Order: sequence, then C-alpha cells, then structure tokens
Amino acid sequence: MRRPFIAGNWKMHKTNSEAAEMVRELVNLVQGVDDVDIAICAPATALSTINELVDNTNVALGAENMFWKEEGAYTGEISPLMLKDVGCEYVTLGHSERREYFEETDEEVNKKVKAALKHEIKPIICVGETLEEKEAGETKEKVKSQVLNALSDVDSNNLAIITIAYEPIWAIGTGESATAEDANEVIKYIRNVLSNEFGDVADQMRIQYGGSVKPHNIAEFMETSDIDGALVGSASLEAQSFAEIAKFS
Ligand code: PEP
Repeated sequence: MRRPFIAGNWKMHKTNSEAAEMVRELVNLVQGVDDVDIAICAPATALSTINELVDNTNVALGAENMFWKEEGAYTGEISPLMLKDVGCEYVTLGHSERREYFEETDEEVNKKVKAALKHEIKPIICVGETLEEKEAGETKEKVKSQVLNALSDVDSNNLAIITIAYEPIWAIGTGESATAEDANEVIKYIRNVLSNEFGDVADQMRIQYGGSVKPHNIAEFMETSDIDGALVGSASLEAQSFAEIAKFS
C-alpha cells in the first residue's frame, strides 16, 4: 500500500560539477525502476543544477533544510518559496546534525514542517535517540516526543505526504547500523503513535530507517513488516552504491 521510498542525504558534500556528474550517472543507473520513489536531498547550491538533470526522470529532488519564513531579513536562510522555485519536492527537517550543531529545537522543526506543507513541499522529518538514551531504555519516549512535537497543529489533511525518518544517532555515519529487527520495532511503535494520535491516515505515512544503510544491508530492512524505505547518508554520495540501494528488491 505504501510505496517504498529511498532518499539520499548528501549533507555538506559536492560542488555543482561533482553533483552534476553523480546525478547524470544515477539517472542512467535507476532508469526504469518504477516500484520505488527515489530522491536526492542536496546542498542548496546544487539544487538548481540537479533540478535540470532530473527533469523527466524517476529521481526527485529534495533540500536538506529550510527556514519557515517566506522572505525577509534572515541573512543566510533559504525559504520554502526558493526551494519550490528550484524544483524541490522534498525537504529533510530536523536531521540530528541540525539538532546537534545548530541547536534546532522541536518547536523550530514544527514551524518548518508547517511552512513546507503550506508550500506543498513534502517533509522528511528525522527523529532518533542518542546512544545514551538507547542505553537508558528511552528510545521510544524520545522518538514519540520528537514525532508528536514536529506534527503539533499540522492539518491532518496534509499528514499523508509526510515521511518520518527514524535515525538512531549512534548509527549515523558510524558503519554500525541498527539491526533490522530493532529498527522495525521502533518504526512499528512510531506508526502506533501516529495511529493513536491521527487515526487511519497513519497507514499512509511512510517511515524510513536511516543509519549506515549500505547496498549489503538494505534488503534486510526492506524485508521487515513496517520499514518503508531508507534515508541514506554516505552511501548516497556515489551513484553506483545509491542505485544499488534504490534497486534493493
Ligand atoms: C544520514 O545522514 O541521515 C545518515 C543516515 O547517514 P549514514 O547513512 O552515512 O549513516
């Protein structure tokens, strides 16, 4: 019922020419893959270049962050209107690196989610626990509060286009992924939280796993009952490995 969704998060990597080279190769490698949604979330400087290259392909474009205001005196920020203008269909919001290094709060993530939805940009909301929280048995509590805070006062008609990315922080960029079983358990729990809060629409919301997803382990995650896809960091930087992940089946 839910289409699998594989999204890449390039973080702060790639100049325009590097982005163009990778995307040209990726578009060829995933040509004809029609049973999964594929997106690249790229730095703002590369969005316009990528937009031209993915036109009329099965690769969608996303940004990695966004401010909630449409315009104004906010030096250095990028608005939803600007992302729309360069063809962004998606935006990742509340990535753990933004929460950690730029002190983004749940409240700010919520403002960004609402602004993205207002402009019909599909949010990929990132949530996940630290190693300390995992060891203290606080994973579910943490993801529940992040998910509910991010979705506070969101119009329920818009929920279906939202993706949640469950990304345990200790698994991001470490090469140590969660087991498929553990990730599935948390993701199942998140779907229960969504269902209790919002009802049937929860069945339409995609929930990805993220954290050291590679070509060799994607199938394990995709074989579980509740994981709908992956948010992929370092393995999305190379066309070959990202295409292998997108073609997991
Ligand atoms: C990420 O950046 O969201 C991520 C999951 O990174 P990696 O795949 O490198 O762990």
